[in-house]
Amino acid sequence: MSVRTRADLDQLPAYVAGRTVPGSIKLASNEVSEGPLPSAVAAINQAAAEVHRYPDMGVGKLTEALAAHYRVEPERIAVGCGSVALCEQLVQATCTPADEVVFPWRSFEAYPIITQVVGAKQVRVPLTGEHALDLEAMLAAITPATRMVFVCTPNNPTGTLLRTAELESFLDRVPEDVLVVLDEAYFEFVTDPDAPDGVEITRRRPNVASMRTFSKAYGMAGLRAGYAIAPPQVAEALRKVCIPFSVNALAQVAAVASLAAQDELRKRCAAVASERERVHRELVALGYEVPETQANFVWLPLRERTEEFNEHCLQNRVVVRAFAGEGARVTIGQPEENDAFLAAAKSFA
Ligand code: PMP
Repeated sequence: MSVRTRADLDQLPAYVAGRTVPGSIKLASNEVSEGPLPSAVAAINQAAAEVHRYPDMGVGKLTEALAAHYRVEPERIAVGCGSVALCEQLVQATCTPADEVVFPWRSFEAYPIITQVVGAKQVRVPLTGEHALDLEAMLAAITPATRMVFVCTPNNPTGTLLRTAELESFLDRVPEDVLVVLDEAYFEFVTDPDAPDGVEITRRRPNVASMRTFSKAYGMAGLRAGYAIAPPQVAEALRKVCIPFSVNALAQVAAVASLAAQDELRKRCAAVASERERVHRELVALGYEVPETQANFVWLPLRERTEEFNEHCLQNRVVVRAFAGEGARVTIGQPEENDAFLAAAKSFA
């Protein structure tokens, strides 16, 4: 006799992380290659001597800093060990096994995994032909068993953005007892003036939560800190299902320091946006189909040529993120990293 794990996990694919290949340029995980903000590094160095102590379980200073930054009550904020942990906590906080979670697909890989692990039912709604979220189809997929809807904007991996009017019209029609989670992991990179601001929406709508992260624009992926701004009872439930001490001490101080460095953040996001436009323009000129993107990556729906493209990039020492049979997602890096990728894309075209 051997121990038994849950039978339904046998078929569950594990989360696939972007690969790191020594000697190659990694454009596979939507990280900023510039690194953390200098003030975050200084805060980490200062706090390092205290890591024999448990972190502040209530994440007090960071919660206060976020509350001041967004002008929201601290009761509406929950911090997690990366926003991926918050995704799981949100499903745990809203769903029992018979309940359904609606999400777009293809989108962030963790949604189906987390939903299944928690034991709820996944309802995947295909993207439109333009690689964007199909809000009408998502609305049609909501049933009395639906407790939560993930709305990822800009969408990972396609980069497509929802505009304010279409999102508001969708939210008008979602039943009030269904929580809509706006996953805005790439919010800081958005330049479109017609983009919705999830935090603003949470002020007006009691069934909406916005989820953001310090992993992407703030350059803190290795530290693990994300946050949700949510209705108070949802934020409270998120804190209850959180594993104690899961937001580590260095992440907490680095996030506080990063929040205070908005000028630096804006500068680096503007540089990413400008490189994003250049990479997009050059790929289109090479004949690639590339959806409009507002994130720090581009999506190449290469379909059956995806694997071949992935191999070609690897041979040219550029690591991209391939989704077999669908496409490749390529992170915007420093100008010289993007040049190396564009050269690989050119010799493949
Ligand atoms: N949401 C989306 C859409 C993402 O792409 C990611 C990271 N790939 C996350 C959430 C989670 O990020 P983190 O856990 O690092 O905050």
